[in-house]
Amino acid sequence: MSRFWSSAVHDLEPYVAGEQPKIPGLVKLNTNENPFGPSPRVLEAIAAASDDRLRLYPDPSSSRLRETLARNFGLEAEQVFVGNGSDEVLAFTFAALLKHDKPLLCSDITYSFYKTYARLFEITVDEVPVDDAMRIHIGDYDRPCGAIILANPNAPTGIALPLSEIEALVASHPDQVVVIDEAYVDFGAETAASLIPRYENLLVVHTFSKSRSLAGLRIGFALGQRSLIEALERMKDSFNSYPLDTLAQAAATAAVEDKAWFKQTRDQIIANRDMVTGALKARGFEVLPSSANFVFTRHPAHQGADLARGLRERAVLIRHFAKPRISDFLRVTIGTAEECHQFLTAIDQII
Ligand SMILES: *Cc1c(COP(=O)(O)O)cnc(C)c1O
Repeated sequence: MSRFWSSAVHDLEPYVAGEQPKIPGLVKLNTNENPFGPSPRVLEAIAAASDDRLRLYPDPSSSRLRETLARNFGLEAEQVFVGNGSDEVLAFTFAALLKHDKPLLCSDITYSFYKTYARLFEITVDEVPVDDAMRIHIGDYDRPCGAIILANPNAPTGIALPLSEIEALVASHPDQVVVIDEAYVDFGAETAASLIPRYENLLVVHTFSKSRSLAGLRIGFALGQRSLIEALERMKDSFNSYPLDTLAQAAATAAVEDKAWFKQTRDQIIANRDMVTGALKARGFEVLPSSANFVFTRHPAHQGADLARGLRERAVLIRHFAKPRISDFLRVTIGTAEECHQFLTAIDQII
């Protein structure tokens, strides 16, 4: 606390990201990064863009990337917004579209950054509880609100809602913006992007950090009808005209174009997830049905904090949230087959 701080800073509750420690031999399963590197074509694109043109500012509107994404989703480039990580896209979304007189609805168990943004932008939040199986019921969102944000699949549960329920939610709130954060959708859920031509109140947010193996480059995007995208552009152009650097634009474009690499690495992660799920259940764990690149799991006889500590002592890092309702759960990122086995070996030693 400093006398130089503005009052806004005093009142913030910053999001705490998973740690990035430098421990030799660490099995890092705590921040849902992709265990496989980006496509070789991505690295080639970065090399090809690394020359004296870096003295120039990047394309402020990331035109080529937005056109490539639009083609990929069957939309128009003007229906795509890109930003410096989906966290930044979400920040602009909160400021531009989610602040209203009535509260913003979100799930009580969800990506905790939503509450951080709500505080930053002074947005009132009404938390809608998930049921005891950690499931979201869209009927519970039938209450007065200014806007709605859901992660689908949800984080940190990994549970996905079918597209039909997302559509029902969007259709039943024609006067509110509904944001669907699809950070993990590629690992087993269906994107709501196909609904965009029919619903002017739907915004779908994606990241390149998980299924595209590019967390280090910070690239995210939003898909929606023109009026929603224009709101985000107005916010961006009042904050930073060049959120995506030249190398990130080149890399992201190549990542979308290399569909074979995307599919192969995604399929491997899904196979490893099924293996880890079966192995944990065989050891007495409850594992929530995951459509993401992580599993959310607990053991009836072991506290979450104890398991997290035991794993850490064995150089296996997972995410544990010391929060009501989920403090006995571990969120375990799906790594390579080797990393998954190291995790399971450590679990065997602890239990
Ligand atoms: C990882 C994650 C993000 C942030 O992704 P970045 O593009 O790396 O900022 C957003 N939403 C959810 C639910 C996530 O898990």
